[in-house]
Amino acid sequence: MGSYLVTGGAGFIGSHLVDRLIDENDTTVIDNLSSGNIEFINTKASFLKKDLLDIDDILIDFKDIDTVFHIAANPDVKLSSVDTKTHFDQNIVATYNVLEAMRKNDIPKIVFTSSSTVYGRAPMPTPEDYGPLVPESIYGASKLACEGLISSYCNTFGIKSWIFRFANIIGERSNHGVIPDFIQKLRANPLELEILGNGKQSKSYLYIGECLDQILFAFSNSNDKVNIFNIGSEDQITVTKIAELVSNKMRLSPKFRFTGGDVGWKGDIPKMRLSIDKLKDLGYAPKYNSFDSVKKTIGELLND
Ligand code: NAD
Repeated sequence: MGSYLVTGGAGFIGSHLVDRLIDENDTTVIDNLSSGNIEFINTKASFLKKDLLDIDDILIDFKDIDTVFHIAANPDVKLSSVDTKTHFDQNIVATYNVLEAMRKNDIPKIVFTSSSTVYGRAPMPTPEDYGPLVPESIYGASKLACEGLISSYCNTFGIKSWIFRFANIIGERSNHGVIPDFIQKLRANPLELEILGNGKQSKSYLYIGECLDQILFAFSNSNDKVNIFNIGSEDQITVTKIAELVSNKMRLSPKFRFTGGDVGWKGDIPKMRLSIDKLKDLGYAPKYNSFDSVKKTIGELLND
Protein backbone atom coordinates (compact mmCIF):
# COMPACT_ATOMS: atom_id res chain seq x y z
CA MET A 1 0.00 0.00 0.00
CA GLY A 2 1.47 3.33 -1.06
CA SER A 3 0.31 6.90 -1.14
CA TYR A 4 0.55 7.95 -4.78
CA LEU A 5 0.02 11.21 -6.61
CA VAL A 6 -0.65 10.98 -10.36
CA THR A 7 -0.35 14.20 -12.36
CA GLY A 8 -2.28 13.98 -15.63
CA GLY A 9 -4.51 11.23 -14.22
CA ALA A 10 -7.44 12.36 -16.38
CA GLY A 11 -5.48 11.82 -19.59
CA PHE A 12 -5.07 8.73 -21.75
CA ILE A 13 -2.05 7.10 -20.09
CA GLY A 14 -2.54 8.64 -16.63
CA SER A 15 -6.14 7.42 -16.29
CA HIS A 16 -5.19 3.85 -17.25
CA LEU A 17 -2.33 4.02 -14.75
CA VAL A 18 -4.71 5.13 -11.97
CA ASP A 19 -7.00 2.18 -12.80
CA ARG A 20 -4.01 -0.12 -12.22
CA LEU A 21 -2.82 1.54 -9.00
CA ILE A 22 -6.11 2.26 -7.27
CA ASP A 23 -6.98 -1.08 -5.70
CA GLU A 24 -3.78 -1.34 -3.71
CA ASN A 25 -2.82 2.27 -3.18
CA ASP A 26 -4.17 5.57 -1.94
CA THR A 27 -4.24 7.49 -5.21
CA THR A 28 -4.71 11.22 -5.80
CA VAL A 29 -5.03 12.77 -9.26
CA ILE A 30 -4.00 16.31 -10.14
CA ASP A 31 -5.17 17.41 -13.58
CA ASN A 32 -6.24 20.73 -15.08
CA LEU A 33 -8.41 18.90 -17.66
CA SER A 34 -6.71 20.79 -20.52
CA SER A 35 -6.63 17.62 -22.63
CA GLY A 36 -7.90 15.12 -20.05
CA ASN A 37 -11.45 13.94 -19.50
CA ILE A 38 -13.08 13.93 -16.06
CA GLU A 39 -14.98 10.76 -17.01
CA PHE A 40 -11.70 8.86 -17.37
CA ILE A 41 -10.76 9.45 -13.71
CA ASN A 42 -11.32 6.37 -11.57
CA THR A 43 -14.13 7.16 -9.12
CA LYS A 44 -12.12 5.63 -6.24
CA ALA A 45 -9.32 8.22 -6.71
CA SER A 46 -9.26 11.65 -5.05
CA PHE A 47 -9.35 14.30 -7.76
CA LEU A 48 -7.92 17.80 -7.56
CA LYS A 49 -8.58 20.04 -10.54
CA LYS A 50 -5.42 22.11 -10.39
CA ASP A 51 -2.75 23.46 -12.71
CA LEU A 52 0.86 22.40 -12.16
CA LEU A 53 1.99 25.84 -13.27
CA ASP A 54 0.54 27.25 -10.02
CA ILE A 55 3.19 26.02 -7.57
CA ASP A 56 1.67 27.78 -4.53
CA ASP A 57 -1.64 26.01 -5.13
CA ILE A 58 -0.21 22.48 -5.50
CA LEU A 59 2.43 22.51 -2.75
CA ILE A 60 0.07 21.27 -0.03
CA ASP A 61 -1.11 18.30 -2.11
CA PHE A 62 2.36 16.74 -2.12
CA LYS A 63 2.32 16.25 1.66
CA ASP A 64 2.69 12.61 2.82
CA ILE A 65 3.03 11.19 -0.71
CA ASP A 66 5.43 8.24 -1.31
CA THR A 67 5.68 8.40 -5.09
CA VAL A 68 4.72 10.99 -7.67
CA PHE A 69 3.81 9.61 -11.11
CA HIS A 70 4.37 12.74 -13.20
CA ILE A 71 2.42 12.00 -16.36
CA ALA A 72 0.94 15.45 -17.13
CA ALA A 73 2.39 17.26 -20.12
CA ASN A 74 1.39 18.61 -23.46
CA PRO A 75 1.97 15.43 -25.52
CA ASP A 76 1.37 16.88 -29.00
CA VAL A 77 4.77 16.60 -30.72
CA LYS A 78 3.49 18.23 -33.92
CA LEU A 79 2.47 21.39 -32.04
CA SER A 80 6.08 22.42 -31.42
CA SER A 81 6.64 23.08 -35.14
CA VAL A 82 4.19 26.00 -34.94
CA ASP A 83 4.21 26.92 -31.22
CA THR A 84 7.58 27.19 -29.49
CA LYS A 85 6.32 28.12 -25.99
CA THR A 86 3.75 25.50 -24.93
CA HIS A 87 6.17 22.61 -24.37
CA PHE A 88 8.54 24.88 -22.49
CA ASP A 89 5.75 25.82 -20.04
CA GLN A 90 3.66 22.64 -19.83
CA ASN A 91 6.58 20.23 -19.81
CA ILE A 92 9.70 21.95 -18.46
CA VAL A 93 8.22 24.52 -16.03
CA ALA A 94 5.53 22.07 -14.85
CA THR A 95 8.19 19.41 -14.15
CA TYR A 96 10.33 21.94 -12.28
CA ASN A 97 7.29 22.80 -10.13
CA VAL A 98 6.63 19.12 -9.43
CA LEU A 99 10.26 18.62 -8.38
CA GLU A 100 10.18 21.70 -6.16
CA ALA A 101 6.96 20.52 -4.51
CA MET A 102 8.62 17.12 -3.96
CA ARG A 103 11.79 18.66 -2.51
CA LYS A 104 9.82 20.88 -0.11
CA ASN A 105 7.73 17.90 1.08
CA ASP A 106 10.60 15.34 1.21
CA ILE A 107 9.01 12.98 -1.32
CA PRO A 108 11.43 10.17 -2.16
CA LYS A 109 10.35 8.84 -5.59
CA ILE A 110 9.27 10.14 -9.00
CA VAL A 111 8.14 8.21 -12.07
CA PHE A 112 8.34 10.28 -15.27
CA THR A 113 6.96 9.70 -18.77
CA SER A 114 9.60 10.74 -21.28
CA SER A 115 9.73 9.96 -24.96
CA SER A 116 11.68 8.35 -27.79
CA THR A 117 11.93 11.87 -29.24
CA VAL A 118 14.87 12.59 -26.87
CA TYR A 119 17.04 10.38 -29.14
CA GLY A 120 16.50 12.37 -32.36
CA ARG A 121 17.57 10.41 -35.46
CA ALA A 122 19.34 7.46 -33.86
CA PRO A 123 20.44 3.98 -34.98
CA MET A 124 17.79 1.30 -34.28
CA PRO A 125 16.92 -0.45 -32.10
CA THR A 126 18.01 2.45 -29.91
CA PRO A 127 19.29 1.47 -26.44
CA GLU A 128 18.95 3.65 -23.33
CA ASP A 129 22.71 4.42 -23.29
CA TYR A 130 22.76 5.79 -26.85
CA GLY A 131 24.23 9.28 -27.13
CA PRO A 132 24.71 12.10 -27.73
CA LEU A 133 21.02 12.89 -27.40
CA VAL A 134 20.14 15.38 -30.14
CA PRO A 135 16.33 15.83 -30.30
CA GLU A 136 14.71 17.16 -33.48
CA SER A 137 11.49 18.62 -32.01
CA ILE A 138 11.02 21.19 -29.26
CA TYR A 139 8.79 18.56 -27.62
CA GLY A 140 11.77 16.15 -27.57
CA ALA A 141 14.00 18.92 -26.26
CA SER A 142 11.50 19.64 -23.48
CA LYS A 143 11.45 15.97 -22.42
CA LEU A 144 15.26 15.86 -22.41
CA ALA A 145 15.31 19.02 -20.26
CA CYS A 146 12.87 17.34 -17.84
CA GLU A 147 15.09 14.26 -17.66
CA GLY A 148 18.07 16.50 -16.87
CA LEU A 149 16.17 18.33 -14.12
CA ILE A 150 15.00 15.03 -12.59
CA SER A 151 18.52 13.58 -12.67
CA SER A 152 19.93 16.70 -10.98
CA TYR A 153 17.25 16.66 -8.24
CA CYS A 154 18.06 12.98 -7.63
CA ASN A 155 21.76 13.70 -7.30
CA THR A 156 21.37 16.88 -5.27
CA PHE A 157 18.41 16.09 -3.01
CA GLY A 158 18.40 12.30 -2.70
CA ILE A 159 15.24 11.61 -4.71
CA LYS A 160 14.97 8.36 -6.76
CA SER A 161 13.58 8.38 -10.27
CA TRP A 162 12.21 6.05 -12.93
CA ILE A 163 12.32 7.69 -16.36
CA PHE A 164 10.40 5.91 -19.14
CA ARG A 165 11.14 6.74 -22.77
CA PHE A 166 8.00 5.79 -24.67
CA ALA A 167 7.55 4.61 -28.24
CA ASN A 168 4.06 5.50 -29.56
CA ILE A 169 1.58 4.39 -26.90
CA ILE A 170 -1.91 3.66 -28.21
CA GLY A 171 -5.24 2.26 -27.04
CA GLU A 172 -8.70 3.11 -25.77
CA ARG A 173 -9.07 6.76 -24.56
CA SER A 174 -6.20 8.03 -26.75
CA ASN A 175 -7.27 11.17 -28.57
CA HIS A 176 -4.12 12.23 -30.37
CA GLY A 177 -1.69 10.62 -32.80
CA VAL A 178 -2.07 8.88 -36.12
CA ILE A 179 -4.97 6.48 -35.41
CA PRO A 180 -7.47 8.99 -33.91
CA ASP A 181 -6.38 11.40 -36.65
CA PHE A 182 -7.21 8.94 -39.46
CA ILE A 183 -10.53 7.94 -37.87
CA GLN A 184 -11.54 11.59 -37.51
CA LYS A 185 -10.52 12.45 -41.09
CA LEU A 186 -12.35 9.44 -42.56
CA ARG A 187 -15.51 10.26 -40.63
CA ALA A 188 -15.36 13.77 -42.12
CA ASN A 189 -14.55 12.55 -45.66
CA PRO A 190 -14.83 8.80 -46.37
CA LEU A 191 -13.61 9.22 -49.95
CA GLU A 192 -10.14 10.65 -49.36
CA LEU A 193 -7.55 10.36 -46.59
CA GLU A 194 -4.76 12.88 -46.15
CA ILE A 195 -1.56 11.18 -44.96
CA LEU A 196 1.21 13.41 -43.62
CA GLY A 197 4.58 12.75 -45.32
CA ASN A 198 5.11 9.97 -47.88
CA GLY A 199 3.48 7.32 -45.68
CA LYS A 200 6.74 5.38 -45.40
CA GLN A 201 7.49 6.69 -41.91
CA SER A 202 7.97 3.54 -39.90
CA LYS A 203 7.67 3.56 -36.12
CA SER A 204 7.11 1.32 -33.16
CA TYR A 205 3.72 1.23 -31.36
CA LEU A 206 2.73 -0.33 -28.05
CA TYR A 207 -0.71 -1.08 -26.62
CA ILE A 208 -1.49 0.82 -23.38
CA GLY A 209 -2.07 -2.34 -21.32
CA GLU A 210 1.42 -3.57 -22.03
CA CYS A 211 2.91 -0.09 -21.60
CA LEU A 212 1.69 -0.22 -18.00
CA ASP A 213 2.96 -3.80 -17.57
CA GLN A 214 6.41 -2.63 -18.66
CA ILE A 215 6.37 0.47 -16.44
CA LEU A 216 5.20 -1.34 -13.32
CA PHE A 217 7.63 -4.22 -13.93
CA ALA A 218 10.59 -1.83 -14.23
CA PHE A 219 9.42 0.19 -11.21
CA SER A 220 9.34 -2.95 -9.02
CA ASN A 221 12.54 -4.48 -10.36
CA SER A 222 15.07 -1.63 -10.43
CA ASN A 223 16.38 0.53 -7.64
CA ASP A 224 19.18 2.81 -8.86
CA LYS A 225 19.20 6.50 -8.12
CA VAL A 226 18.12 7.22 -11.72
CA ASN A 227 16.49 4.31 -13.57
CA ILE A 228 16.00 4.88 -17.30
CA PHE A 229 14.02 2.43 -19.46
CA ASN A 230 12.71 2.37 -23.00
CA ILE A 231 9.07 1.29 -23.25
CA GLY A 232 7.95 -0.13 -26.58
CA SER A 233 7.52 -3.09 -28.90
CA GLU A 234 10.23 -4.80 -30.92
CA ASP A 235 9.05 -4.01 -34.45
CA GLN A 236 7.73 -1.14 -36.57
CA ILE A 237 4.77 -0.41 -38.81
CA THR A 238 4.41 2.19 -41.59
CA VAL A 239 1.90 5.02 -41.63
CA THR A 240 0.43 3.72 -44.91
CA LYS A 241 -0.15 0.29 -43.37
CA ILE A 242 -1.98 1.96 -40.45
CA ALA A 243 -4.08 3.92 -42.97
CA GLU A 244 -5.01 0.64 -44.69
CA LEU A 245 -5.92 -1.05 -41.39
CA VAL A 246 -8.10 1.88 -40.28
CA SER A 247 -9.82 2.12 -43.70
CA ASN A 248 -10.49 -1.64 -43.84
CA LYS A 249 -11.95 -1.68 -40.35
CA MET A 250 -14.25 1.23 -41.28
CA ARG A 251 -15.14 -0.67 -44.50
CA LEU A 252 -13.93 2.26 -46.65
CA SER A 253 -11.64 2.48 -49.69
CA PRO A 254 -10.49 6.10 -49.64
CA LYS A 255 -7.97 7.56 -52.04
CA PHE A 256 -4.76 8.20 -50.09
CA ARG A 257 -3.37 11.72 -50.58
CA PHE A 258 0.21 12.08 -49.33
CA THR A 259 1.48 15.51 -48.31
CA GLY A 260 5.00 14.37 -49.28
CA GLY A 261 8.49 14.35 -47.75
CA ASP A 262 10.00 11.68 -45.51
CA VAL A 263 8.49 13.11 -42.29
CA GLY A 264 4.99 14.19 -41.21
CA TRP A 265 5.91 17.62 -39.86
CA LYS A 266 8.93 19.78 -39.01
CA GLY A 267 10.73 18.06 -36.13
CA ASP A 268 9.31 14.61 -36.92
CA ILE A 269 11.65 11.66 -37.57
CA PRO A 270 11.08 9.02 -40.30
CA LYS A 271 11.92 5.91 -38.28
CA MET A 272 11.84 4.90 -34.62
CA ARG A 273 12.30 1.62 -32.78
CA LEU A 274 13.62 1.31 -29.24
CA SER A 275 15.60 -1.54 -27.74
CA ILE A 276 13.79 -3.06 -24.77
CA ASP A 277 16.66 -5.43 -23.95
CA LYS A 278 17.28 -3.69 -20.61
CA LEU A 279 13.76 -4.62 -19.52
CA LYS A 280 14.09 -8.15 -20.93
CA ASP A 281 17.40 -8.63 -19.11
CA LEU A 282 15.47 -8.05 -15.87
CA GLY A 283 13.12 -10.91 -16.86
CA TYR A 284 10.33 -9.08 -18.69
CA ALA A 285 8.61 -11.03 -21.50
CA PRO A 286 7.10 -8.79 -24.25
CA LYS A 287 3.53 -9.51 -25.39
CA TYR A 288 2.36 -7.11 -28.10
CA ASN A 289 4.03 -6.18 -31.39
CA SER A 290 3.21 -2.98 -33.30
CA PHE A 291 0.72 -4.65 -35.67
CA ASP A 292 -1.33 -6.22 -32.84
CA SER A 293 -1.18 -2.99 -30.83
CA VAL A 294 -2.49 -1.00 -33.81
CA LYS A 295 -5.24 -3.53 -34.64
CA LYS A 296 -6.46 -3.69 -31.05
CA THR A 297 -6.47 0.10 -30.75
CA ILE A 298 -8.42 0.61 -33.98
CA GLY A 299 -11.06 -1.84 -32.71
CA GLU A 300 -11.28 -0.10 -29.33
CA LEU A 301 -11.46 3.43 -30.78
CA LEU A 302 -14.19 2.34 -33.20
CA ASN A 303 -16.00 0.58 -30.32
CA ASP A 304 -15.86 -2.71 -32.17
P1 NAD B 1 -2.94 13.24 -22.50
O1 NAD B 1 -3.04 14.58 -23.15
O2 NAD B 1 -4.05 12.29 -22.69
O3 NAD B 1 -2.66 13.40 -20.93
C1 NAD B 1 -1.99 14.50 -20.36
C2 NAD B 1 -2.80 14.96 -19.16
O4 NAD B 1 -2.10 16.00 -18.47
C3 NAD B 1 -4.18 15.52 -19.53
O5 NAD B 1 -5.16 14.92 -18.71
C4 NAD B 1 -4.04 17.02 -19.25
O6 NAD B 1 -5.28 17.60 -18.92
C5 NAD B 1 -3.02 17.03 -18.13
N1 NAD B 1 -2.26 18.29 -18.02
C6 NAD B 1 -1.54 18.88 -19.01
N2 NAD B 1 -0.96 20.01 -18.55
C7 NAD B 1 -1.30 20.11 -17.23
C8 NAD B 1 -1.01 21.07 -16.20
N3 NAD B 1 -0.26 22.16 -16.45
N4 NAD B 1 -1.53 20.85 -14.96
C9 NAD B 1 -2.30 19.77 -14.71
N5 NAD B 1 -2.61 18.84 -15.64
C10 NAD B 1 -2.13 19.01 -16.88
O7 NAD B 1 -1.55 12.60 -23.04
P2 NAD B 1 -1.00 11.09 -22.93
O8 NAD B 1 -0.88 10.56 -24.29
O9 NAD B 1 -1.75 10.34 -21.91
O10 NAD B 1 0.48 11.36 -22.42
C11 NAD B 1 0.85 11.17 -21.07
C12 NAD B 1 2.35 11.39 -20.91
O11 NAD B 1 3.09 10.45 -21.72
C13 NAD B 1 2.84 12.77 -21.34
O12 NAD B 1 3.88 13.16 -20.47
C14 NAD B 1 3.39 12.53 -22.72
O13 NAD B 1 4.34 13.51 -23.09
C15 NAD B 1 3.99 11.15 -22.55
N6 NAD B 1 4.17 10.42 -23.81
C16 NAD B 1 3.06 9.95 -24.47
C17 NAD B 1 3.25 9.22 -25.63
C18 NAD B 1 2.07 8.63 -26.39
O14 NAD B 1 2.30 7.94 -27.39
N7 NAD B 1 0.82 8.83 -25.97
C19 NAD B 1 4.54 9.00 -26.14
C20 NAD B 1 5.63 9.52 -25.45
C21 NAD B 1 5.42 10.20 -24.27
